[in-house]
Amino acid sequence: MAKVWVFAETTPEGEVDPAALEILTKAREIGDAEAVVLGPGATKAAEKLGEFGAATVYASDDEVYGDYVAQPATHALHSLIEEHSPDLVLFAMAYDSRDVAGRLSAKLGSTLMSNATDLIDENTARTAVFGGATLVDVKLEGSPKLVIFRPKSFEAAPSGGSADVVEVSVDIPDDLKKAKRVERHIEEATGPRLDQAPVVISGGRGLQEPGNFELLDQLAAAIGNAAVGGTRAVVDAGWVPYSYQIGQTGITVKPSVYLAIGISGATQHIVGMKGAKKIIAINKDEEAPIFQLADLGIVGDALKILPQLIEEVKTRKG
Ligand SMILES: Cc1cc2nc3c(=O)[nH]c(=O)nc-3n(C[C@H](O)[C@H](O)[C@H](O)COP(=O)(O)OP(=O)(O)OC[C@H]3O[C@@H](n4cnc5c(N)ncnc54)[C@H](O)[C@@H]3O)c2cc1C
Repeated sequence: MAKVWVFAETTPEGEVDPAALEILTKAREIGDAEAVVLGPGATKAAEKLGEFGAATVYASDDEVYGDYVAQPATHALHSLIEEHSPDLVLFAMAYDSRDVAGRLSAKLGSTLMSNATDLIDENTARTAVFGGATLVDVKLEGSPKLVIFRPKSFEAAPSGGSADVVEVSVDIPDDLKKAKRVERHIEEATGPRLDQAPVVISGGRGLQEPGNFELLDQLAAAIGNAAVGGTRAVVDAGWVPYSYQIGQTGITVKPSVYLAIGISGATQHIVGMKGAKKIIAINKDEEAPIFQLADLGIVGDALKILPQLIEEVKTRKG
């Protein structure tokens, strides 16, 4: 069996990045899954990683991994790889993980495959090109093989297991303590996270002006447990922050219901939401490409439909 490692990010409170749990679920299908988690919160995070299938978790709560960007973590991961020789090391497409993966690739001389959407076997990973229209299987090379996955590539499922936690103690040379993390900012959110919400209401340029996003907030509040997102067009226009952006250069969502409001359905947007179970689109142009994907299409002016929809949801919810 291949030894498959997952590099997991954690918060200082020990909350594991959900994408690491998704990848771990896949890792245990391919081989013997183990995880590495570095930085404050790691020991607590190890418990969760065990529940999702890591038989062994290499963990260190050392603050050096939280205080300094990437270099200490790369050094420690490299030492662990030399000692334990995993066949694969899998990463989520998160900022720190990408940074560590790139540096590790340079140190090991292993090829790093990024933007993967599936792992077929220990030697092959899959990615999507041309805005998701074509799937390509890529033969992985090097030892270990390094792969970065898009979020939501797999569904996280607990295995019911528990991990042996091995404490990592690697000396970090001073010359690797260069880029210091000076501040940690937690974005205030009132509803569920966009990538976790069961209902996503997403707005595009068809909303005409930034103030009309308020209608999406009202609809989300009326439905409950819903989050609001948007297209790159409205992010670029400064209507909503980048954290709202869904698509190729934003985040990937897979909610039960996705409402696309005033969105044309460009391939770069679709690649980030086509995994939704049901897609509802409102667009005044009946030829809009989004209708080819939608389970329910409403042709009309979103600014007229939204207030009625909000009232209807409120009435039905009593
Ligand atoms: C490299 C690259 C990466 C990209 N990454 C992303 C990405 O991650 N995410 C992303 O979203 N885009 C991305 N894009 C941009 C993408 O190509 C599209 O330009 C963008 O998705 C369009 O956004 P939109 O649907 O809001 O705007 P438009 O394409 O302008 O569509 C607006 C729609 O609103 C409809 N409309 C107008 N008025 C109304 C009304 N009153 N009521 C109802 N409907 C109305 C129109 O009929 C139209 O269909 C990327 C592009 C490139 C080149």
